[in-house]
Amino acid sequence: MKIICIGRNYIEHAKELNNPVPKKPMFFMKPDTAIVNNNDPVYYPEHTNDMHYEAEIVLKISKKGKHISEKFAHSYFQQIGIGIDFTARDVQDECKKKGHPWEIAKSFDQSAPVSKFIDKNKLPDYKNISFSLNINNEERQVGNTQDMIFSFDQIIAYVSKLITLKPGDLIFTGTPAGVGSTKIGDRYHAYIEGDKFLDFEIK
Ligand code: MG
Repeated sequence: MKIICIGRNYIEHAKELNNPVPKKPMFFMKPDTAIVNNNDPVYYPEHTNDMHYEAEIVLKISKKGKHISEKFAHSYFQQIGIGIDFTARDVQDECKKKGHPWEIAKSFDQSAPVSKFIDKNKLPDYKNISFSLNINNEERQVGNTQDMIFSFDQIIAYVSKLITLKPGDLIFTGTPAGVGSTKIGDRYHAYIEGDKFLDFEIK
């Protein structure tokens, strides 16, 4: 399976990192070794001194598809969860300066803890999902999918023009404003519609 991550999909987050608001979706990928399940701890990586959290709604692809039209995109995912797109921000800043790829900043092992998944039909409206991240019981990020620049349907249509989506693939759909540094000992709680989905520690 693969993990596709959308960047700069919330205007306020693009602004906080002084990035332009994109005209079409931008994405990068993480390998399956980035995933952390079952609220297992995340070990702070050695190659960065400034790991940032980015809380994001995650879609799980349920059906193989290529050139999926926006109209039918909703039938290619059944389940929704929440995850953290951990980013070595200092390393990423260097990559951006040099025009290098982002993998060393984004795709390292354990850079993608993900929650359990629930059926999207269990949510009142998957186009209007509120989610939040608390660290050490302090609210850090609050978002709602209605503020995304590109909708789930637009993301799936765009990505599947280039890359075949397969069952089990995950799509991280972008983070709202409020990203910041993390440190060893931080306790993460992430919520969808007020329900706790993630609960893990940085070690
Ligand atoms: Mg992200």
